[in-house]
Amino acid sequence: MWKDIDISLEKTETPKPKPAVEELGFGRHFTDHMFRMDWNREQGWQQARICSYQPFEMDPAATVLHYGQAIFEGLKAYRGDNGQIYLFRPLDNLERMNRGAVRMSMPRFPVDLILQGLKALVYLDRDWIPEANGASLYLRPTMIGVDPFLGLKPADNYIFYLIMSPVGSYYAGGFSPTKIFVCRDYVRAVKGGVGEVKTAGNYAASLLAYEMANKAGYTQVLWLDACERRYVEEVGTSNIFFMLDDTLVTPPLGGSILGGITRDSVIKLARSWDIKVEERPVTIDEVLAASQDGTLKESFATGTAAVISPVGELFCDDTGYPINRGEAGPLAERLFEELQAIQYGRSEDPFKWTM
Ligand code: PMP
Repeated sequence: MWKDIDISLEKTETPKPKPAVEELGFGRHFTDHMFRMDWNREQGWQQARICSYQPFEMDPAATVLHYGQAIFEGLKAYRGDNGQIYLFRPLDNLERMNRGAVRMSMPRFPVDLILQGLKALVYLDRDWIPEANGASLYLRPTMIGVDPFLGLKPADNYIFYLIMSPVGSYYAGGFSPTKIFVCRDYVRAVKGGVGEVKTAGNYAASLLAYEMANKAGYTQVLWLDACERRYVEEVGTSNIFFMLDDTLVTPPLGGSILGGITRDSVIKLARSWDIKVEERPVTIDEVLAASQDGTLKESFATGTAAVISPVGELFCDDTGYPINRGEAGPLAERLFEELQAIQYGRSEDPFKWTM
């Protein structure tokens, strides 16, 4: 049904001034154009178009505004030293989003068509990709249910759209470790729920704990499992790794954790360097004990935004546990350098991750 969809193009007549690199930050500025495609139950996907970045008109009763039928993705386009534009594993993001669509009773979309639209949009707005080291263009594909109807059921009408935001280097102030607050009072996701989906409600549900941690001087929250509050799950909007002795350990994907693309890349890279990697349940008690007896060598979080974010301290039950004397560890640094080199097309790409 979606084989014959053409993507139309309507260029903006009022291009915006581009912000200076120092002003970029994260997700504040948006490029001149966006991609949009609509779905309804009778006709499926239609009207794929690239148009000027613009607001939507939406009925106040729209499904997404009441029942949260919303999924999204986050990936980046990088400008290499050679002027080429690189996308990092874009198909993995789109396929993850389609799996999320199924879980949220939303329509799947044609990955090939979206990838074509995504590439065309990035190319059209290529002057928005910052050149500064560590800076990139963040891409945010999103799908929302938009029926003007208050009865609870899957919507019959959806909008898929893709917006893009130039973002500055996460590490403008250096590759500095974060302090993480271990959260016992709230949980992010439950087994059988939607933790493995990038759906809006997961992020809304995380805000209160994030705010509390932030007020207490911590960068992010470490989430424990919802059932026993013992097992480590994720950190903020990142996956978490611990170097325990000579083994790199990360919690397994069991439905409540988002399967990060950076997580998967780290596992594959580390294994290719003959580092032992285990995806296994890990309790917070094991991690804290290891930090005290010296077997916890380092810890870092992984995600598209920061790529690798070293953890310098865990704060749990009123006690601070320093990791690697509060400094970034050697593996975090090596992974960060190597992933960035691949993402900017500066080194070989043994896993064929870039496009
Ligand atoms: N966990 C959560 C909850 C996230 O939102 C993200 C960011 N997408 C991640 C982990 C890391 O995933 P990725 O490496 O694909 O960015």
